[in-house]
Amino acid sequence: MHTTALVLFSGGQDSTVCLAQALCKYERVETIGFDYRQRHSVELQARLVVLDELSTQFPKWAPRLGPDHVIDLAVLGQISDTSLTRDMAFAYENTGLPNTFVPGRNLLFLTLAAALAYRRGLQVLVTGVCETDFSGYPDCRDDTMKAMQLALSLGLDKRLLIDTPLMWIDKAATWQLADDIGGQPLVDLIVEHTHTCYLGDREHRHDWGYGCGNCPACELRSGGWVRYRGENA
Ligand code: ZN
Repeated sequence: MHTTALVLFSGGQDSTVCLAQALCKYERVETIGFDYRQRHSVELQARLVVLDELSTQFPKWAPRLGPDHVIDLAVLGQISDTSLTRDMAFAYENTGLPNTFVPGRNLLFLTLAAALAYRRGLQVLVTGVCETDFSGYPDCRDDTMKAMQLALSLGLDKRLLIDTPLMWIDKAATWQLADDIGGQPLVDLIVEHTHTCYLGDREHRHDWGYGCGNCPACELRSGGWVRYRGENA
């Protein structure tokens, strides 16, 4: 029986839904985030606000929520040249991947998370990766997750589970999942406090939250919101 988990938590919509679900499912939950000198520190600020709001608004979850760990990954800036770490405009590469893509980034995140989970005695890694609203990230695929689970379990000589609750659902279903887990208060919390926009826009408020409204991350989030609201109209 798995009772403890480490959630890869970025402060975005997806990882917040994963965290809420983990707080329902597991008795002890810790969070890990990565500071890779994102162009905007908006996400890193958002994650602290979301952690605080989750504890305050859902007192039954507060005792389960353990320490938050932020890992300094400035080193990513040395091996990538992307619009997330440098001052470049968002664009698509010839490969069809957004230039926000840091090759293999998620593999690094999972490896570091596994090392921390081992040290902290946590059995499950929870991550909000998804193949459905697929942005073209090969390190978010289900096969990659299964291979990582095996590699990490072998390499640590300890069985580690990678839990991917969003793998096969789209963004509308992710909003619905938040609704199912925490009702309107959780949906409102996600709208108001989580951050998704690639441009770090916290000025423009839409009914689905803050963002520029035009970048691929905003398009996914708003498109999902419209379908979710339509289904609940
Ligand atoms: Zn945006």
